[in-house]
Amino acid sequence: MSIDNYCVPGTIAEAVELLQQGEATLVAGGTDLTPQTASGAREFTATLINIRRIDEMQGISLSSGRYRIGGLTTVSEILESELLAAGVPVLVQAADHFASPQIRNAATLAGNLCNASPAGDMSIPLLLLDAQVELASWVDGSVTTRKVELAGFFTAPGKTVMKANELLTAVEFSQPGDGFRASFLKSGPRPALEISSVSMGVAADLKEGVIHGARVAIGAVAPTPLRAIATEAVLEGRPMNAGTIEQAVETVCREVSPIDDVRASAWYRTHLTAVFIRRALSHVAGN
Ligand SMILES: Cc1cc2nc3c(=O)[nH]c(=O)nc-3n(C[C@H](O)[C@H](O)[C@H](O)COP(=O)(O)OP(=O)(O)OC[C@H]3O[C@@H](n4cnc5c(N)ncnc54)[C@H](O)[C@@H]3O)c2cc1C
Repeated sequence: MSIDNYCVPGTIAEAVELLQQGEATLVAGGTDLTPQTASGAREFTATLINIRRIDEMQGISLSSGRYRIGGLTTVSEILESELLAAGVPVLVQAADHFASPQIRNAATLAGNLCNASPAGDMSIPLLLLDAQVELASWVDGSVTTRKVELAGFFTAPGKTVMKANELLTAVEFSQPGDGFRASFLKSGPRPALEISSVSMGVAADLKEGVIHGARVAIGAVAPTPLRAIATEAVLEGRPMNAGTIEQAVETVCREVSPIDDVRASAWYRTHLTAVFIRRALSHVAGN
């Protein structure tokens, strides 16, 4: 379909009022949308809304123990953020494994989450942090927002719980405690330039060698980015030793449901899952 209306709102209110008027395509960095429309995998609607000029959706802050990252924050800005490097380095680690500098300069955090790829890299550290997304819409003449747990945001490849009239304005999460340690690992034929064959994040707080607050998130092994709840339960409250790690390996390999595709076979993805959980747990243990 040809684009009849091109809109460039300057505020969240303008953007959600436009979304309320009927079907529209949102574009932020365009690094997913452009290849999808160029290949014919997706069509533009008659209205295209470019949201890149909305200042309220920029910036990274920490206030009263909560981090807030504006939806339009680019992956480069996450990579260069001293605030995030000091408090949540696992997010910066994921940004460092993301594409090339050219793509990172355009790619936004909201675009990465809304594209809802099972291999989307930024969802993995955010799942470890129990992040929430803020969704805005236009109701009865004003902006209304709701918060949704990221763990419940993705529903299928390319699908989320977001409604057609909603805009993802920000991501929020609580400042982790002092003992929080996390690790992000990613594999692809050309690591940083490739969509992940498997990506994994593991986080825990080790108190006298015992695992607390275990979190395991995995990309590209299920229809959506996965919180490996059964594996977390195996780790929780257990000593970090060889027996616990082997039980985690067995459980996580049963918990994933990868597919064969052009990037990797299901067998290889399961193998990488086992390799990564051992490695990530070892990083978290400080080895
Ligand atoms: C060469 C290349 C390498 C890549 N490498 C990686 C990689 O290593 N890791 C990775 O995870 N991804 C990778 N990607 C995918 C892509 O760069 C990311 O998913 C990126 O973060 C998308 O952000 P964007 O701003 O460009 O989104 P866009 O393309 O502008 O939008 C993506 C989707 O989200 C919707 N959308 C955007 N913003 C909002 C919003 N605020 N509210 C509601 N809906 C919104 C759009 O309508 C569209 O459906 C790569 C892409 C390319 C082309």
